[in-house]
Amino acid sequence: MIKTIHTFKKTFKILIIFYAMKTMNAAVLEEYRRFKWKQVSQPEIADNEVLIKVAYAGICGSDQHIFKGEFHPRTKIPFIPGHEFAGVISATGPKVLKFHAGDHVAVDPIIWCGECPACLRHHYPACSSLKLLGVDVNGGFAEYINVPEHMLYSVDKSIPIYHAALVEILSIGFHACSRANVKKDDTVVIWGAGKVGQSILQAVRTKTANTVIMIDLLDKRLNLAKSHYSDIITINAGKENPVERVKEISGGKGVDIAFEAVGHHTDVKGVVNPVRGCIQSIRGAGTVCVLGLGDEPLPLLMKELIWKEAKIVASRVSHGEFAETIENLRKGTLKPDALVTDILNPEMIQNGFEMLENEPENHLKILLKFA
Ligand SMILES: [Zn+2]
Ligand SMILES: [Zn+2]
Repeated sequence: MIKTIHTFKKTFKILIIFYAMKTMNAAVLEEYRRFKWKQVSQPEIADNEVLIKVAYAGICGSDQHIFKGEFHPRTKIPFIPGHEFAGVISATGPKVLKFHAGDHVAVDPIIWCGECPACLRHHYPACSSLKLLGVDVNGGFAEYINVPEHMLYSVDKSIPIYHAALVEILSIGFHACSRANVKKDDTVVIWGAGKVGQSILQAVRTKTANTVIMIDLLDKRLNLAKSHYSDIITINAGKENPVERVKEISGGKGVDIAFEAVGHHTDVKGVVNPVRGCIQSIRGAGTVCVLGLGDEPLPLLMKELIWKEAKIVASRVSHGEFAETIENLRKGTLKPDALVTDILNPEMIQNGFEMLENEPENHLKILLKFA
């Protein structure tokens, strides 16, 4: 009898837990190349975490790699991607000090170890075991997400919340500028007019009013950049030799800084690969900043670099530039709408990924609208 009562109590408890478990909708990558918008359990928050009701999330180039299974085994399925997102805090854990329910927040998705040589030098993007929310652990393509307080940045409510979802990608541009040390009056060339290249352009234009040149193979992307920044010079590398044109534009001297944001190499007759193109584009003692995550090795002629005693720096994710980006959004010195080509309901996520893959010239940043 006592045992029966015990079993009954236990079953009752399980039932209560079951009914108390809240659910939400999320875009789950159930198999590579196949998303399912489905009900999953809503995350619980730890004492130092907040629960964010996601408002908007952006689809990134890395998400496209995850989608195709190219990040396997780093990203395992089933999985909820999404590392570019913003939303409104709906609940806070008891140890959360600076944030409150109702606050608008952007999330810096990087998770560093704090112990490796780079972390000990406070150089977190180079952490030897760097993880990202939405790449290594479930991310923001969901109605709710739990995030520790230290990853949050407060976003002024005067900033449209869909712009806040662009803070991560725009911060990549600001980080690249700080890695390359872009100064007032510097002349700049950006190889690649995709999401990263256009984010660099936005950040660069807050630093220098001098010549900015953009290179790509797709006229539509160049025209998109030009329609928002009419003072830039664009070069289609399929129609003109970009290195020759950069020399011409800079009066034979070369530019101060070249950014490489192509990430892959397409053979174009008479044109060297983008990194070597950057080296050939700069003046003596100039700087090349590389961001493209290509998989294939690219041949460089080292004497071209040495003769110029040039510097190559790499730039990965961002490092504290969120505050600078949010401040620029608040001041209105950026053009976030220039990055956004589409806003979709999250049920349409599968279409979003297919649009990016099948028509890269027509789509740049696709935002998913959750709330
Ligand atoms: Zn990204
Ligand atoms: Zn580390």
